[in-house]
Amino acid sequence: MGLLRLGSLHGLGQSRRERGWPSLIGGGLPSARTIGRVMDALDVQDVRGVLRAVYSCRKRNKSLPAFFGGWTGLILDGHESSSSFLRCCPDCLRRTIHTAKGQRVQYYHRLVAATLLCGGERLPLDGEMQRPGEDEVACAIRLLERVLRQYPRAFDLVVADGLYLRADFFNFVTRRGKHAIAVLKDERRDLMKDARALFDGAPPAILWRGRTRCECWDIEGFASWENIDRPVRVVRSLERSTVRRQRDGQPEQRVSEWIWGTSIPKTRLRTEGILRFGHGRWAIENEGGFNALVNDWHADHVYKHTLNAILAFWLVTMLVFNLFYAFINRNLKPVRRAGHTAKYWAERIAADFRQAIGFVRCLAPP
Ligand SMILES: [Zn+2]
Repeated sequence: MGLLRLGSLHGLGQSRRERGWPSLIGGGLPSARTIGRVMDALDVQDVRGVLRAVYSCRKRNKSLPAFFGGWTGLILDGHESSSSFLRCCPDCLRRTIHTAKGQRVQYYHRLVAATLLCGGERLPLDGEMQRPGEDEVACAIRLLERVLRQYPRAFDLVVADGLYLRADFFNFVTRRGKHAIAVLKDERRDLMKDARALFDGAPPAILWRGRTRCECWDIEGFASWENIDRPVRVVRSLERSTVRRQRDGQPEQRVSEWIWGTSIPKTRLRTEGILRFGHGRWAIENEGGFNALVNDWHADHVYKHTLNAILAFWLVTMLVFNLFYAFINRNLKPVRRAGHTAKYWAERIAADFRQAIGFVRCLAPP
């Protein structure tokens, strides 16, 4: 179902009665209700074990090269997987929303995902559901503890958004021999004030990221945080690119400012590396990660509303995503792959599958 991107158990149920199922899977297809119940009872550790096995296989085949300068990153990112005013379970997170009809309690679930940022691709490894009474960073630390046990040498640094720029998180990561990069975006922070004061007086270095011109400032030794084990390095990039306006085709200059805080010393990774990893985190939103998993793979669909079922479906979707891209990128010959999108291959797989279960024959005119 994941591979065919059916999106719901109902979609799968539609093809349940096709004649080809027994020869394909050795029996009939279970009902949507049964699959939901099985996912609820599934031991998520088993699915994590399969994800780990896929990683090990890729590692053995040397098909997971470093991302930049010999370094591989691990992206940590929170994602709200579902929300509702009506349906809830004992593990739902809740918040009060001010609506036109007054205050209402909204129930939701949030997942933190760990994705490997290597070579030219992103490989989702593991996920953890945020529990009631816990904040996202605490959930991420719980996830990271397991990822460090299961994948101790898979990555060198952790890349995360502004929420994670905290002394407790940075200390947790550096005490385990890894480094951290997080977006610095809160103007009120002491670290930001100190950094801005120093940036103002220093000339920038010019770097190019594709056709984007980056004016970069890179200063280390900030001890503006209490309780931080080691001083923070701050990198600022003022990026200018020219884009054609859709409205009238005229060139328009876009300027964006990026600031990151990191534990990595300049001697270990140069400014360009911080930029590459910092932007690598955002690529997860745009192309390789949540957007694709949610829009193309329907990872957010709530098949059964329990914490275990939601997590089990997410982990299975991650697994399917990894297998699909391993097949496209590693198994297909480059000459066959050229000129085709991932969507094309997904449709080809679905078409072959439908033919195998006899679905296509049924649609053919008599
Ligand atoms: Zn719930």
